[in-house]
Formats: sequence, structure tokens, C-alpha cells
Amino acid sequence: MRQSIGIDVGGTKIAAGVVDEKGEILARTRRDTPSKDSPAIVEAIVEVTRELAADFDVDVVGVGAPGFVDAGRSRVFFAPNLAWRDLELRDQVATATGMPVVVENDANAAAWAEFRFGAAADVNDMVLLTIGTGVGGALVLGGELYRGSHGFSGELGHVRLVPDGQLCGCGLRGCLEAYASGTALVRNARAAATSAAVAVPGSAALLLELAGGDPDAITGPMVTAAANEGDVLARHLITEVGTWLGAAMGSFTAIFDPAAFVIGGGVGDAGDLLLKPAEEAMRRNVTGGSQLPHATIRLATLGNDAGIVGAADLGRL
Ligand code: BGC
Ligand code: ZN
Repeated sequence: MRQSIGIDVGGTKIAAGVVDEKGEILARTRRDTPSKDSPAIVEAIVEVTRELAADFDVDVVGVGAPGFVDAGRSRVFFAPNLAWRDLELRDQVATATGMPVVVENDANAAAWAEFRFGAAADVNDMVLLTIGTGVGGALVLGGELYRGSHGFSGELGHVRLVPDGQLCGCGLRGCLEAYASGTALVRNARAAATSAAVAVPGSAALLLELAGGDPDAITGPMVTAAANEGDVLARHLITEVGTWLGAAMGSFTAIFDPAAFVIGGGVGDAGDLLLKPAEEAMRRNVTGGSQLPHATIRLATLGNDAGIVGAADLGRL
């Protein structure tokens, strides 16, 4: 059975694995994302590749990158949350490792994994949204990953929801990502913990306790943990993210009419606390409302492995 390496390059970590044709991960390794500076990140990608290739007979490396990737699956035009601009990533990694390399958008990789082996294995048309440092989007239409003419179709996180709204990592204002990413959740949680502590004493107690008393130390997983424990403020913050997502999914329904929306990324760990408000908001925001059949909204089942598995699998194609 053929084996390939899949690498998921995220804002906080670089996760890599050797994956077989059934989507099983045979070995894995990881590094913290060194900094937002591009040579150090490329070096870490090369390192994890060498480490895995030393013990396995692999034929290709698939790299899932968090940005706009060209149709040749080679260069990253632009990564909103990293300093990558016009980066010839494929050639750099291929030259350093002596292996064939394919570059994919990270959300495309995750969507492909969920479509082949996970939450969307039973449908032909699906839209994936990953909620992490950024909001990733990807489209599988008619059983094929849809890339658009220049390669970067499905960048759903940068669809504008609010004219002149919050500043997004991409430099524009009002994108979905500026409201429904882990970054937005943390921004709102820190602001809420600061003001709520004054306005309604006690209401931010759990979040502040988890953060050692410092609002600026609040992280996304802390908000999810507090929400799972029933904390009212944390639940409200997650509901807000879900509501923005649902509003956007109403519009995406009008464009793509998918059978399923699959929600992945770290904030997906909030489960129904995120999905329920998203579903309600989607129903309110879909033109034709109850007259139409609806897409189901599902949580990704491959979790943090989706990016690795999908990048490896797409590398083979
Ligand atoms: C980028 C996407 C990426 C997503 C998740 C967004 O900011 O534009 O390319 O898929 O973040 O990493
Ligand atoms: Zn944006």
C-alpha cells in the first residue's frame, strides 16, 4: 500500500504524519509554529518531512497551508495570518528534501479528508468550515474538490458579512473570519472578561480563574472548557460565533446548495453549543426558509487529523 506524508501548517503548530491509502496515520510528529516568519516555518516543514521519511517508504509530501494557494498547487499567494506572500513553497521543500511535494490549502485538505474518510463520506456536495486561528472554507462539489480558476476558491472566511466591520487578519474589514474565528472568540472573551468583571461582578469568574486572573491570558480552549461547564458568559460568546456562522451558512446555501456543512477546527470542540445557534441562524437567514430542504450541519469527525490525512491523500492524486 502506498504511503505519503501529510503536513498541516497551522498558526500555532505544524502537525505531520505518514498516512496510508485508507487514511490511517502510521506515525506522526509535530513542531510549534516557530514564528510568523516564513524561512523558519519552511525549515520546520523540511525537518518534519526528513524525520518521517527516515523511517517510512513514502512517495510524496502533501503540505496543507493556511492561505491562498495557486492552481498549480505550488505557491502560496497570500496567507492572512502568516507572513507568507508569494512563497514558492513546493520548490523550497522539494529542493531541501529531494521528494515530490504538493501544496494545498489547509481547509481543502481537511475537507477532502472528511469527504473521503469522515463526516461527509455519504454525500457528494459539501461545504467545510474550519474555525481556528482563521476561518477556512472548502468546497467539494459533485464529488470533486472545487478549486476555481486560480486555485483559491472556497475562501469562505473572507466573505464580507459586515460593511466597515471588525478588522480581519487579511487586512479588510467585516469578513466572517473577523467574527467567527478562534481569534475573534478570544478577542471577545478578553474584552467581555474585562468589562463584565466591572459591570456584573462574578460573571467572568470562571474565565478569569482559568486564566490565572489575567483577562489577556484567556485562550480559546479556556472559553470552550468554561462553556462546557455551563458558564453563562462563555456560552454566550460561543453562541455569538455560532450565530455569525449560521448567518453566513444561509448565504452559502443559496450559492452551493450543499447536502452537508461540516464544521471543524478547535472551536468545533464546543459541539452543540456552537452548532445549535448556527443551525437556528442558518434557518433564519436562508432565502425561502422552511420552503426549502436544508443541508445538515455536522461536526468534523477526524478532528485535528483531518489536515494531515487530507494533505497526504491529495498529494497522491
Ligand atoms: C485563510 C485560509 C485558511 C484559513 C484557515 C484563512 O485566514 O485565508 O486560506 O484556510 O485561514 O487556516
Ligand atoms: Zn478577511
